[in-house]
Amino acid sequence: MGGMELEKGMKLIDENGRRIDGRRPDELRPIKIEAGVLKRAEGSAYVEWGNNKVLAAVYGPREAHPRHNQKAERAIVQCRYNMAPFSVTDRKRPGPDRRSNEISKVIAEAFSNVIFLEQFPRTAVGVYIEVLQADAGTRCAGITAGSVALADAGIPMKDLVVAVASGKVGGVVCLDLNKEEDNFGEADVPMGVAPRTGDLVLLQMDGHLTAAEFDQAMKYSMNAANQIYELQRDALRRRYAVSLEDLKVEMQREAPPPAEEEPKYDVYYDAQPGVQE
Ligand code: ADP
Repeated sequence: MGGMELEKGMKLIDENGRRIDGRRPDELRPIKIEAGVLKRAEGSAYVEWGNNKVLAAVYGPREAHPRHNQKAERAIVQCRYNMAPFSVTDRKRPGPDRRSNEISKVIAEAFSNVIFLEQFPRTAVGVYIEVLQADAGTRCAGITAGSVALADAGIPMKDLVVAVASGKVGGVVCLDLNKEEDNFGEADVPMGVAPRTGDLVLLQMDGHLTAAEFDQAMKYSMNAANQIYELQRDALRRRYAVSLEDLKVEMQREAPPPAEEEPKYDVYYDAQPGVQE
């Protein structure tokens, strides 16, 4: 793992209350979100979240296969969460495993709660999440990317899903654990939420928290979810703004500039002989 290696006896929280990467307990890692990064997929998004790098792509709704998976009255959500062999320090054995199957399942369930599935009977919406670089919190980064990709694909949804984790590190409740904190901390609670309604669509817990610690963790996560929600919406707005620019160029090509505007010939390389002064 590039960067910090936890030495024996090293404290996860220092005497100033700072974490090993300098964050305060309630601080997120830096997050960047880009929508529409892949040309062939119907929707896509790329998320950098601390040292996590995650791509998400969406297809559908398309006829569900195999057909016995089809639901007569609604669409199904198929999800594949996959970690690239090069995403972790020791080459990960390619292909699905118990962990990635579990994560794929909970992510599909999370999205099933917000997509208007009944609008697309017998179809499947496919969400493909590729973890290119992992540093703890990849399921949250994957869900966050996946829901931007769903929106980019134009899939009708009640809301975007935001996911973020909080946990306990060195006895202190902390937001958004990194790899060292995840490895050596006491608990990790990833959650997914639809911020507009506040509906929880994913909640998992690894380790133990008291009821009071759990409340604090959820407060941190809910607050962070609103920040991440803004980043998701901003990514979609930027994506849409680019399309508007393209549209303007298209329209200018079709319609000549208004007549009252005098053309300026300061630089006019195509002038006919004798026309130019
Ligand atoms: P999440 O990435 O959602 O936090 P986990 O808590 O299961 O999921 O994993 C935490 C981190 O442990 C991952 O982000 C990754 O950095 C690392 N990790 C997970 N699986 C493997 C693996 N098979 N090999 C090496 N590192 C792994």
